[in-house]
Amino acid sequence: MRQIYAYMDTIQIKDKTFAVSIREEDILKEVSRVAADINRDLAGKNPLFLSVLNGSFMFTADLMKRITIPCEISFVKLASYQGDASTGVVKEMIGLNEDITGRTVVIVEDIVDTGLTMQQLLESLHTRHPQEVHIATLLVKPDKLKVNLNIEYAAMKIPNDFIVGYGLDYDGFGRNYKDIYTVINQ
Ligand code: 5GP
Repeated sequence: MRQIYAYMDTIQIKDKTFAVSIREEDILKEVSRVAADINRDLAGKNPLFLSVLNGSFMFTADLMKRITIPCEISFVKLASYQGDASTGVVKEMIGLNEDITGRTVVIVEDIVDTGLTMQQLLESLHTRHPQEVHIATLLVKPDKLKVNLNIEYAAMKIPNDFIVGYGLDYDGFGRNYKDIYTVINQ
């Protein structure tokens, strides 16, 4: 019995083994807290939630089920391409068809690691003249943050380790797990 339980708590994806680190029920408690904060802060602002695919699909679904104020939701993707020497890899936002001029926008992300992706996303959104842009992220790795970001809505802070599950992948796999797993061999 013990062995079966241990088996269920670890997963193997390709060359890496992961152990469960945050259970679905604990994730949902934090998602509910973030939703309550957004419901309180953005009431009357008809926010447009911008879910950044693929990683945020599960967080987006659970968050939006708990948003009770009038709002809209749209989905975008980031396409990576090689910039110049100073910019390195540039991530361009694709798929945003809404006019966000004068709107209250909430970016819904899976994880902020160095913060460079979020910074590029913010710059790209600001060229479209929104009224205000807020950040909602499932996870932050505070020790890795390289840029100054005002992350108002963060469900959980985690250490520097690589994680999968609850929408996040390793080489395309692992997004389907309801819990979050941390790598235990690199
Ligand atoms: P940043 O630009 O903040 O360094 O990186 C953000 C992106 O890196 C996330 O949107 C995600 O795709 C990826 N990422 C960062 N840390 C992890 C992690 O621990 N696990 C997974 N699966 N992706 C991560």
